[in-house]
Amino acid sequence: MAEVILKSVGKVYPGGMRAVQGVDLHVRHGEFIVLVGPSGCGKSTTLRMVAGLEEISEGAISIGGRVVNDIAPSERDIAMVFQNYALYPHMTVGRNMAFGLERRRRHGSLLRSLLSPAYAAERRAESARIQARVDEAAGLLGLRPLLQRMPRELSGGQRQRVAVGRAIVRDPAVFLFDEPLSNLDAKLRGEMRTELRILHRRLGATMMYVTHDQEEAMGLADRIVVMKDGLVQQIGSPSELYDRPVNRFVASFIGTPTMNFIEGDVERDGNAHALRWAGGRITLPAGTTLTTARAAIGIRPDTLAPVADGPFRGTVQSIEFLGDRADVLIETSGVRLNARVPTDSARAMREGASIALGMPSVVHVFDGDGQRAS
Ligand code: ADP
Repeated sequence: MAEVILKSVGKVYPGGMRAVQGVDLHVRHGEFIVLVGPSGCGKSTTLRMVAGLEEISEGAISIGGRVVNDIAPSERDIAMVFQNYALYPHMTVGRNMAFGLERRRRHGSLLRSLLSPAYAAERRAESARIQARVDEAAGLLGLRPLLQRMPRELSGGQRQRVAVGRAIVRDPAVFLFDEPLSNLDAKLRGEMRTELRILHRRLGATMMYVTHDQEEAMGLADRIVVMKDGLVQQIGSPSELYDRPVNRFVASFIGTPTMNFIEGDVERDGNAHALRWAGGRITLPAGTTLTTARAAIGIRPDTLAPVADGPFRGTVQSIEFLGDRADVLIETSGVRLNARVPTDSARAMREGASIALGMPSVVHVFDGDGQRAS
């Protein structure tokens, strides 16, 4: 276990491409941190700098209290699991898992084993220790029945589990994951996500994980780091990001379906503010501070519900039933709204019919620059 601390970390690739800028992050002992953001936002580059696979252009990274900027990847006490988990095709699952440790061990010479019984005994003991570690990791991941199989005899999910097992066997201070589940189908991804979460709890290990999938981030993380254009937008627990996104980017990136935004002109009424848009006028929550002429309110789809009369009036464009709930698209004057409602409520609606939606108890307000204002 170890802390990972990034201080003003930046990366400029040869050729001048600035991929990461001013990242400050303190990953605590045993914490599961997920870096998330759209493709190209710099999350892999950040992780690869922690791993030592990319040089750190600016700032410092420390692992377990030691600055690692100039320390080789093999000396950083980390293990990394990639999207393209390269297993050795000619080795069994068991050998694949043991290989990292055996390779380290091989530095001793066979000749020395032959000449010194004590040395040979020590080598045998170490072999047994490695086998015990492999067996323990295989047990954690349900891989024991597969230890003698070859990688080609495994499903995609099993192979990914072997790749995770290989990392566990090395017992690193920090686990690094770079989109490890991206190649798996949706159902398997969900299952592996749960397994990783359980594994994290059992191992109590520090983990850093990169994904572009916000649902995966929400499901896995103790804390999430949202990135955009090489910059950290917000760091917080899944519920902090969901309940109080600091800007419109985070607000729209986190949460499914995406948050609705209604943009309009700010009207001041003493200390109070209101937003006027094509479909009406809404008084903004007390405590909203706005200095811009334009603003937007953000409404989560699952906080919209049909009412006899309400501030949002329009026509139901489509209803998609999803089992216990349904997604409803409503065209109002000036803006389309997505509502996620219980199935029973959706059954009472008709496509093409008029509808009114009530004012949710929670709305998010963003100023004209997209910064949170409530
Ligand atoms: P993400 O993981 O968020 O998709 P990356 O960290 O891989 O993003 O990339 C961040 C930015 O850096 C992208 O614009 C990408 O094109 C660029 N980049 C990544 N690797 C290199 C490289 N080796 N050389 C130059 N630019 C790179």
